[in-house]
Amino acid sequence: MINLVNNIIGEKIVEQGIKYIVNGTEEKLPFLLNIAEKVAVDPVHKQNVQSVRKVLQDKDSNWYQFSKRLFREIHPNIKRKMAVNFFLNASLLGVPRQKEMAEKLGVSVPWAILIDPTEKCNLNCTGCWAGDYQRARDLDFETLDRVITEGEELGIYFTVVSGGEPLIRKDDLIKLAEKHPDQVIHIFTNGTLIDEDFVREVVRVGNIAFAISIEGLEESTDERRGKGVFKKVMEAMDLLREHGCLFGFSATYTRKNTEEIASDEFIDLMIEKGCTFGWLFTYIPIGKDVDLELMATPEQRAFMFENVCRIRNEKPIFVVDFWNDGGSSNGCIAGGRRYFHINAAGDVEPCAFVHYATCNIKDVSLSEALQNPLFKAYQKRQPFNKNLRRPCPLIDNPDAMVEMIKESNAKPTQLTCDETVEEFAEKLQKYADEWGKVADELVSEVE
Ligand code: SF4
Repeated sequence: MINLVNNIIGEKIVEQGIKYIVNGTEEKLPFLLNIAEKVAVDPVHKQNVQSVRKVLQDKDSNWYQFSKRLFREIHPNIKRKMAVNFFLNASLLGVPRQKEMAEKLGVSVPWAILIDPTEKCNLNCTGCWAGDYQRARDLDFETLDRVITEGEELGIYFTVVSGGEPLIRKDDLIKLAEKHPDQVIHIFTNGTLIDEDFVREVVRVGNIAFAISIEGLEESTDERRGKGVFKKVMEAMDLLREHGCLFGFSATYTRKNTEEIASDEFIDLMIEKGCTFGWLFTYIPIGKDVDLELMATPEQRAFMFENVCRIRNEKPIFVVDFWNDGGSSNGCIAGGRRYFHINAAGDVEPCAFVHYATCNIKDVSLSEALQNPLFKAYQKRQPFNKNLRRPCPLIDNPDAMVEMIKESNAKPTQLTCDETVEEFAEKLQKYADEWGKVADELVSEVE
């Protein structure tokens, strides 16, 4: 893809931009934005660059401070690789290519692929979304490599890796990052297997970023993930920060820890530890013996939205709440619209939380997988609700999930499959109705 970049705007300007990123400071931002504007093919991207330029004019703003952190805290090799792979390959040039290929295939081509190299894990956390898989299966290196290679042909340059605990396959992940130098490899990990040798390898390859799971402060993290895990996560973050790696935190907010995760104490600690981003997930009760009482209440979900907006206005960290930010992504992104999931057995699922599939990647090419009937059922219904604060077919619109599973004749992919989709939907309807009322009121207040 770097060749494509060079062909479009000329090698010199690209090289100059990269030099600014690697050796420069935040003072070079205006020059970099000029280059980004020239490279942008998609009109939306051009507009985005202009919005970023406006925000960064205020040197006291948290966004300017955030950019300063990226320039100063990240290792030059990682800055170089991430700038090219994320901004140029995955976004400015990848998106137009995805659109072109989507036209040809007649279905969406996503921006990112989430893939699990393994479902094995060294921890046993309460309420893990992978808890009801068999916890024994792996995807072999050849399959992982093939999926990424076929993705690149479609313009996909962002691979998210989850599990299980993906760092059980450390060597394969480094090999994949090396074999696909144009790709961003974003690993979700519990952090407990990160050690110095591995971190050195990560710096060497340059195109790996981490999201480290945490449940809040020490007591909450250890309660859900096991005793001593918080301390190990802190040590992993220290190692990554000292070596200049790019990483953030990933937190699931529940009825027990929503206020703690939104607190200044927690967010400031994450910034101090070196996180430049944070991914927030609301607890989804999937699996057999789930605890519906652990779901954040509708009031807590609204509270989190308010606080994420506050954090984004005040703190030098980029935080996203995947459900509450439905308005920014025009609703649910799953089912191949912007992303989808391949589990460690190879099942092609619409989302990490939706354990149904109609095909397995071991039997089909990536292009064929994207055309599966479950993804088509998703795409023809998205967005699932005209109120984008109610984006999800699982927890906000469970009747849509029932319709899609039936229409596509998708089969459950997890070990515990004695619960029908209707039973699952019935269980969640009360929550969906209650959140629906709150979300509709919030939207009508804004209008
Ligand atoms: S199905 Fe739900 S959890 Fe998955 S991407 Fe869509 S909104 Fe998010």
